[in-house]
Amino acid sequence: MNDRSTIFVIGAGPSGLAAAWRLREAGRDVVVFESRDRVGGQLLSVRRDGFLMEAGTTILPEAYDSVMGLVRDIGMTNDLVPANSLMGFMRGNELHLMRSNRLIFDAARTKLLSLRSKIEVAKLALDSFRLRKLLSYEDLSIAADYDVETPEDYCRRRGLDGELYDYLIEPTVRGGAGVPGDVISVVEFFFLWQKVLGTRLFAFRDGYSSFPQRLADKLSDVRLNTRVHTVVEDDDGVTITYEDARGVHTETGAGAIVSSMGNEVPDLVPQLDPDRADFLRQLNYTSTMSINLALNRVPDCTASFIVVPRPVSEGLFAIILEHNKVPGRAPDGKGLVSLFMMNQWAVDHMEASDDEVIADALREAEKALPGLGTDIEFTRVNRWYPVLVYSHPGLYKKLGRFHAARDLNSRIHLAGSYNSSGNVNTATTAGERAARELLTALRRG
Ligand SMILES: Cc1cc2nc3c(=O)[nH]c(=O)nc-3n(C[C@H](O)[C@H](O)[C@H](O)COP(=O)(O)OP(=O)(O)OC[C@H]3O[C@@H](n4cnc5c(N)ncnc54)[C@H](O)[C@@H]3O)c2cc1C
Repeated sequence: MNDRSTIFVIGAGPSGLAAAWRLREAGRDVVVFESRDRVGGQLLSVRRDGFLMEAGTTILPEAYDSVMGLVRDIGMTNDLVPANSLMGFMRGNELHLMRSNRLIFDAARTKLLSLRSKIEVAKLALDSFRLRKLLSYEDLSIAADYDVETPEDYCRRRGLDGELYDYLIEPTVRGGAGVPGDVISVVEFFFLWQKVLGTRLFAFRDGYSSFPQRLADKLSDVRLNTRVHTVVEDDDGVTITYEDARGVHTETGAGAIVSSMGNEVPDLVPQLDPDRADFLRQLNYTSTMSINLALNRVPDCTASFIVVPRPVSEGLFAIILEHNKVPGRAPDGKGLVSLFMMNQWAVDHMEASDDEVIADALREAEKALPGLGTDIEFTRVNRWYPVLVYSHPGLYKKLGRFHAARDLNSRIHLAGSYNSSGNVNTATTAGERAARELLTALRRG
């Protein structure tokens, strides 16, 4: 094909598909290239024996404004169901329940914290309030002035260390990012607290991947098992080189959106400005493992999301009781539980057999839910790399320079979840922005 009106989208995760759909909505011909044999990227729902498992992404907060808008625009509003927002915070052997959309309020009443710590929660509420307008899914660099310390440093400076850090603040960081609170940026904590965990939760009735699947169904040309090697811009448009089962091919089009992992972009887009390419090359991504446990009984726990603090387990950061989250995830009288493992644990276990992974993960999970390992019907181990950008204090300052230096007249625009704190909404927002900016550039051109 040699058509100078087509737009290419690289990657069929939420970011690429959001971009592709917005371009299609604007009347453009779009071709999506996806190296995997399925769409969805890190969104993957799997049905087996009456269970509906989330192998990847699970949490869908009300605050995901771009996702919610897109869901509405593609006619999926009725596929969304309110989820149980009850979260369990562990301390020792005890589980303390709080509602995700009332975290500050419930933190003030919970027995998780002493009276002294509860008084300190007021400081946290004040700082959260100060930052609230700076926590943007589109560009977290507007919070760069606060991006100077880790959550641990912040807590020490504000006198919030001790139990408040161990049982509320660090578990939030671990629960949202899968990394400890002494490395990433404190901005990430406030983002997770207000934009992910601190709101009402929803779920797609048919699983998270029904969302990218519906987007893909609305596009006429989505090519699976097709890896893009390069996208190059010239005066008239772009030339894309890709590989599929039949070999290597070249096509020309009007423009392109690249939604692959940030550190892969410089090789895909060789003309990228050297400073922007350097920033992307230095992005480190986390790993994680999620383990689905199909149980032939319902565990005795009402929470849908348990965050596991470091004093309870170094390796396990969250347990999701899918059968409590929304109806229909497990057959009647059965349970579905997913375990989410920290970055370092996942790195250490990436080459281990499934049996070893399950045995080691269950040993951690039993500290939170004793007896979890009995009555298992079947298990599924999901190994993930790359997942989220491993932020360090200062990353969002650099991200600001990266964003400011983008060429708005270019025919190649970048999407992907590295454009702010990584999650499905950030990815969707980045895809929609890339589509908007590419359309403007093409109109100008
Ligand atoms: C276990 C797990 C749990 C998670 N939980 C949550 C959660 O609860 N809530 C939340 O909001 N987020 C969660 N996330 C993160 C979220 O899934 C990601 O932030 C989001 O999927 C990123 O979207 P994306 O489109 O940028 O990237 P991806 O979803 O990774 O999609 C990128 C796609 O591009 C394709 N691709 C890349 N390069 C090329 C190429 N050269 N040619 C062709 N195709 C290419 C890839 O194969 C992939 O399919 C979780 C992730 C994992 C792994």
